[in-house]
Amino acid sequence: IRDDLVTGVQTCALPILYASRAALNTLVLQGTELDQLSLTTVVENYPGFPEGIMGPKLIRDSRTQAQKFGANYEMEKVKEIAAGKAKSMFTTNNPNELIMEFRDDASAFDGKKRASLAGKGAVNNQFNAFIMDYLGDNGVDHHLINLMDNTHSLVHSLDMFPIECVIRNRATGSICRRLGTEDGLILDKPLFEFFLKDDDLGDPLINRNHIVSFGWAKDDELDEMISTSHKVNELLTKLFADSGMILVDFKLEFGVSNGKILLGDEFTPDGCRLWDDETLEKLDKDRFRQDLGDVIESYHMVAHRLGMQIKVD
Ligand code: ADP
Ligand code: UDP
Repeated sequence: IRDDLVTGVQTCALPILYASRAALNTLVLQGTELDQLSLTTVVENYPGFPEGIMGPKLIRDSRTQAQKFGANYEMEKVKEIAAGKAKSMFTTNNPNELIMEFRDDASAFDGKKRASLAGKGAVNNQFNAFIMDYLGDNGVDHHLINLMDNTHSLVHSLDMFPIECVIRNRATGSICRRLGTEDGLILDKPLFEFFLKDDDLGDPLINRNHIVSFGWAKDDELDEMISTSHKVNELLTKLFADSGMILVDFKLEFGVSNGKILLGDEFTPDGCRLWDDETLEKLDKDRFRQDLGDVIESYHMVAHRLGMQIKVD
């Protein structure tokens, strides 16, 4: 039995907030139509934002605010459409939105090494939301709509490019095996590389000519992915450096929603390398790859250093 029932989401932001703050039991049902606010880039007539505010950000912030007071946003998993090595994607009652579930599964070496690490899903889901929010606040368009609970996030459904964009600030991992370079070598300039997302082939290194000739993406789309990746590198290198960590390298994936390229997938210690800036201790998935132990403890330490408060059940 509920005290109050509210339908619709964005247009009801204020009633939802008032109801939840008044400690009424508030259930918010989301319809299947895309509302006006989701489609609005800059909202210029909402009070309190003289410079305007991005529609999707306003939706996200309103939800976060109401959820703080206990509002319950109903968003059902309709059907699992993909079960990757670490995450599962579900359709929802909105055709443009997916639920991304971070599981406790860990994998390395293109799926050849696997394990279940308790609490990994929760830390990675919340870690990813923190980083995506930070990137969004700094002008990087991404797929995250909002955090739903410890292990689930709501995201825009994307047509993913089948490629991985890697940036390296130091040489380690596959590039050392490929080029015989010294491990940890500081590169003169951040290096950008494309890989084909194909576990069976071991994610081979490719260049933009392969991508364009095989039709995996167009030249202008590649330019945008490269420049966004460099921007992410600048922003996150500083963010981690300010908390005593070196961002060694990382992988990004992009996709298209409504004709726009958005950063998709995740940014977590699973897909990047982070070293302590004094001891050079590895704080990322290399702890799992190389059996160094304390994998999840390290992920929590990185989150803590960045000021995140990770909730675990
Ligand atoms: P993998 O595919 O490497 O095993 P995951 O376990 O992380 O990886 O699975 C997540 C899958 O969902 C990946 O294939 C990723 O490309 C895809 N994905 C990530 N974000 C989105 C999105 N917003 N829309 C559609 N697919 C996505
Ligand atoms: N990476 C990833 N997924 C992949 C391949 C690489 O997240 O399928 C990340 C990896 O964690 C590292 C960066 O991309 O931060 C560069 O990885 P590298 O090419 O060195 O490959 P690896 O040594 O992991 O095989």
